[in-house]
Amino acid sequence: SIPLGFFGGIGAASKNGVLVKGSNYLEGLNDVKYVVFDKTGTLTKGSFKVNAIVTAGEWTQEDILLYAAYAEIHSTHPIAQSIREAYGLELDEHRISDYNEISGHGIQVTFENSSVLAGNAKLMQSEGIPFTEPKEIGTIVHLAINKRYAGYIVIADEVKEDSANAIRLLKKLGVKRVVMLTGDNKAVGEEIGRRLGVDEVHAELLPQHKVEELEKLDAAKSPKEKIIFVGDGINDTPVLARADIGVAMGGLGSDAAIEAADIVIMTDEPSKLSSAIQIAKKTRGIVW
Ligand code: ADP
Ligand code: MG
Repeated sequence: SIPLGFFGGIGAASKNGVLVKGSNYLEGLNDVKYVVFDKTGTLTKGSFKVNAIVTAGEWTQEDILLYAAYAEIHSTHPIAQSIREAYGLELDEHRISDYNEISGHGIQVTFENSSVLAGNAKLMQSEGIPFTEPKEIGTIVHLAINKRYAGYIVIADEVKEDSANAIRLLKKLGVKRVVMLTGDNKAVGEEIGRRLGVDEVHAELLPQHKVEELEKLDAAKSPKEKIIFVGDGINDTPVLARADIGVAMGGLGSDAAIEAADIVIMTDEPSKLSSAIQIAKKTRGIVW
């Protein structure tokens, strides 16, 4: 039979805005030694804003925004939303065809008679398009029109007020190592990691690379130590499922993430993870 204390613990967590899907996950929180965070939407708000537009060749900033907004017409990625917002005008979907969203890379689309690529450095490299190395630190969307480089858009996200505190609390509760995984570029990843006190940052990762990083960590630790992955579920459901305990953000997070997760943080605050660990410790104290 399941000790009564666990129900008390799950109830206490739920009052704190943390949904724990079983007493084994609450119990497992006691042995967490590694916490792996996704960046966008998990440690950051995931609400991007266009900060700068840098042009190349004959293109103007207006051109860049127009082509990029049309490329991003159907994407639900927060990057896409910010570009459409910056463009500000209504988009006519009849002007685009051949829409392709390439996970972890960006978009390829035909806008009227032009082929347009909008995405990160990986996308430009895979299409063999030489691009400008941005001086700005930010999420970068490069643009190519008819296979020629047209410039880039600098997009900024904000870290959650709660993130630095969350990481500090985890360390206090005995977590050995805090890792951040992101599909975003190295410059942004390292800057945010430094500001938040993250021990290890892996950037420019495709969703399958995030799983590989987790598996490497898993192979290096001792068997009793547990790994938590915390994500928002945009491209990270496989890692959520692979971790000893998968934690999803319930507010921003996708339905798929909430489904795949063992624990859901309803308020989207990373520090709730520490509250849940504290509750787990108290619960263990009551149970044994
Ligand atoms: P994260 O790991 O930060 O949550 P994703 O895996 O969702 O990021 O995406 C990784 C990277 O792929 C983004 O930082 C961006 O460079 C690029 N990307 C993904 N979707 C788009 C899009 N719709 N438009 C432009 N770039 C995109
Ligand atoms: Mg994400």
